[in-house]
Amino acid sequence: MLQLNFNNRFVSELPGDASGIQKCRQTPGMCWSAVSPTQVEAPRLLASSAEVLALLDLTEEDSQSAAFAAAFSGNVLLPGMFSYASCYGGHQFGNWAGQLGDGRAIALGEVINSKGERWELQLKGAGMTPYSRNADGRAVLRSSLREFLCSEAMHHLGIPTTRALSLIASGEMVMRDMLYDGNPALEPGAIVCRVSPSFIRFGNFEILVARGEHQLLQQLIAFTIRRDFPEIDSEAEDALKNWFKLVCERTAHLMVEWLRVGFVHGVMNTDNMSILGLTIDYGPYGWIDNFDPGWTPNTTDKDWRRYTLSQQPVMARWNLARLADALATVAPARAGLDEGLAHFDKIYQASLSGMLAAKFGLTEWHDEDAELVETVFELMQRAEVDMTEFFRKLADIKQHAPDLNILHSAFYQENLYQNHRALFNSWLVRYATRLSMQVGSDETRRMRMNLINPRFVLRNYLAQLAIDALMQNDFSVLDKLMQAARHPYDDNIPPELTAKRPDWALNKPGCSMLSCSS
Ligand code: AMP
Ligand code: MG
Repeated sequence: MLQLNFNNRFVSELPGDASGIQKCRQTPGMCWSAVSPTQVEAPRLLASSAEVLALLDLTEEDSQSAAFAAAFSGNVLLPGMFSYASCYGGHQFGNWAGQLGDGRAIALGEVINSKGERWELQLKGAGMTPYSRNADGRAVLRSSLREFLCSEAMHHLGIPTTRALSLIASGEMVMRDMLYDGNPALEPGAIVCRVSPSFIRFGNFEILVARGEHQLLQQLIAFTIRRDFPEIDSEAEDALKNWFKLVCERTAHLMVEWLRVGFVHGVMNTDNMSILGLTIDYGPYGWIDNFDPGWTPNTTDKDWRRYTLSQQPVMARWNLARLADALATVAPARAGLDEGLAHFDKIYQASLSGMLAAKFGLTEWHDEDAELVETVFELMQRAEVDMTEFFRKLADIKQHAPDLNILHSAFYQENLYQNHRALFNSWLVRYATRLSMQVGSDETRRMRMNLINPRFVLRNYLAQLAIDALMQNDFSVLDKLMQAARHPYDDNIPPELTAKRPDWALNKPGCSMLSCSS
């Protein structure tokens, strides 16, 4: 028997439509709408996360039960569960898009675990809701596997993220036009159960302002601070300002963390920005192979290039400014919110230089280091150098005998390596000189660098290999990736999981380019 202790504050403290009517509609005055998951044919557990099971005080044995597959596919509600979709809006690609809401996510309520922690459960792909607009409320296996794997991989990298409890095949087929080229096809459907302290997004606040519901906005702010930000005194006169400042700070840290590991989210619309500063909504995301600040995996964004690697911090700030616009309608003064945005800039800069110093093995950051770092980033881009491999190998450089051969394996193309040898060599001399200005052995620097530069990241082609295998009912790749993802900084990851992107993956859909079709 699966027993979870529910305490559903979002639905008990905020107004919602309890009618349970599924029909697509605008929901003024509501923060949520009750909705039942649509039953699926033959739910079958494909994978679960041991760590997330433990967070919920569940065992591996529990996860193997038929009751588990029934509950986390949405076929059966456990005692205490209350299923609903939340209402939010959003700025999509720079434009206000109106009401969006959970179109295929259905929350099941908030669990309090044995440690007293609150974890909200949410099914993604569990059927239509009042916010499904003209879509089907479902998700396909390939995108669900990507979300399941990546959210856990992100967590083990030490980066704030929503988590994933389970990946369940629905036993039903879903129609998708994967390449958006007029060739829809049936694909297996799946459902992920996501887990997070909160799924509240910037867009939950924005929609209330768009509707002129300022009192409800105040209520949602107070609720969010009380439930999700215990460090903020909700009764204080400047609670709103303090809270927004903290949201800015967390978002700034998240942007630096994404840069650290070369993660590109792909769709940083305000409806995909977590108020807690978590990575949320894994869609057409990607990981940098050859270093390229202008890269985005999202084919929908290939012309605008709004959400490329280097644009992410700029866009996060833009999104925070939209949140500030919304909050300003109930704030005592706009100035307090502008202070928050200035705080973002300050924290971002400080956190960025701290991260870069650590990435390069510098014990402290000097202003002149910016030039050293920029030079090599530019070289890496021109010479198409693999980011993950480069930083792992940079740790092996000896201060007294810097040898470019050590970095050879990070290059994709031999001719680019040869053509750039002289430039890299002179950079290495500068780097070694810089290292000589600090104390500490090569070995201690290597160890420090390997704690921040991952050996394993969920390269786009690896996720695709796991998908291809699972489609043939072969779980081995998924299992291997989950194992590696648990220890991303370890030296002894199987070499086939740390290999640079193979040539076949260069233009294969799912590997270098992804559409939003999911
Ligand atoms: P995204 O950009 O993927 O975060 O999605 C933007 C909006 O579209 C959100 O409101 C989603 O809930 C909704 N959406 C995306 N895919 C579907 C789907 N298959 N069915 C219903 N709604 C969807
Ligand atoms: Mg979304």
